[in-house]
Amino acid sequence: MDISTTFSALSVAIDSVRRLRDVNNALSSAELNNLVADLLDSLANVKMDLAEVKSELALKDSRILKLEGELELLNETKYAHEKIFLTGDDDPFCPVCFERDSKLIHLRASIYRKSQGYGCPSCGYFTYNELLLV
Ligand SMILES: [Zn+2]
Repeated sequence: MDISTTFSALSVAIDSVRRLRDVNNALSSAELNNLVADLLDSLANVKMDLAEVKSELALKDSRILKLEGELELLNETKYAHEKIFLTGDDDPFCPVCFERDSKLIHLRASIYRKSQGYGCPSCGYFTYNELLLV
């Protein structure tokens, strides 16, 4: 939907109203009917276009809310030792799930190929215990 189309339809409607305002007795009934029909057409187009604008704005509002939430979450997290940490939570989260899907999935202490570390129950990510990485 192009907003300039909406403004064009609105201009046609305004012009029609101006012509109706300036109408004199010389205007025939047929001309008057045509003006009113044009006006109704233009107003109907404007109404439909505005409904689309309203819908698009609602989508953008919801996208903005989602991005604000993600930004807020990003400000409360930090990446360290191949894990994500959230302010106020000592248990680490999966960096893959966080960066790919913006999901906070707690990592679980686990053993992989006889090595101790942390695994993600959602995506299978595994990282070694940071004490063993040094
Ligand atoms: Zn994961």
